[in-house]
Amino acid sequence: MLETGTVLVTGASSGIGDAVVRSLSGRGLTVIAAARRADRLARLADETGCTPLTLDVRNRDQIAEIGRTHDIDVLINNAGLGRAMGSLVDADPDDVERTIDTNVTALILLTQAVLPGMIDRQRGHIVNISSTLALYPGPAALYGASKGAVHKFCRDLRMELAGSAIRVTEINPGRVATEFYDVAIDDPDLRQDLKTTGITELTPEDVAASILHCLDAPPHVNIHQLELAPVEQVYGGARFTPIDRSDS
Ligand code: NAP
Repeated sequence: MLETGTVLVTGASSGIGDAVVRSLSGRGLTVIAAARRADRLARLADETGCTPLTLDVRNRDQIAEIGRTHDIDVLINNAGLGRAMGSLVDADPDDVERTIDTNVTALILLTQAVLPGMIDRQRGHIVNISSTLALYPGPAALYGASKGAVHKFCRDLRMELAGSAIRVTEINPGRVATEFYDVAIDDPDLRQDLKTTGITELTPEDVAASILHCLDAPPHVNIHQLELAPVEQVYGGARFTPIDRSDS
């Protein structure tokens, strides 16, 4: 079981990140909880003893500073968001940039910042929160592309790190009940439509338990990928959608 060292969790102010920080508390680890909303992190620190870090993962200077000033043993790259869910056609270019910056570029730069220390110490675990939409098609091309990039990054990084003791794990959750869709969709009707599933969704604690399972594996075991979804959610099949040609 992981009992010593420093764990950095990004996106710790809500949802999955918050649950991971809570589930790691009481183990004697130094848990750094990072996000932009400092008030939420302060509350989390009061409740769990974690170290709050106000961080915008798109801030490259701050990311580089973390690499220089902290010995991170476990990096949980969880900060992320969805925008333009359901339609790329109307997407604001700023949302395209923000999604790729947050979900892909920041995850890669943070990994790059902590890896030299991990390699020196011959100890480290990178856990990247991806999605089932990295693996299966869905009507969210921008988000799917960002998580698809995370999927390939994990696979290729494992190749680069071969011969080191550093583990790389990709977590692929299906639908989790978090604030994700509140952030993703501005229009209240569309938000309600895409958010409402009528099923028992995964809880953030369910995902945190899977992450801890990977962290707690013996050091010689690297769980490459862990995919989990609600039992009432499945992927696959083809869509048959007739085109309305009545005007042609
Ligand atoms: P959430 O409740 O909205 O949490 C997202 C977290 O990311 C927040 O703590 C937010 O903190 C942080 N974040 C966003 N932009 C950031 C930035 N620029 N800098 C620092 N932190 C930032 O959603 P969640 O569902 O827990 O999402 C966590 C991860 O799971 C994401 O990578 C998401 O893509 C993935 N995921 C979610 C689902 C789902 O159905 N919910 C399914 C599969 C995968 P601040 O706003 O305070 O900065």
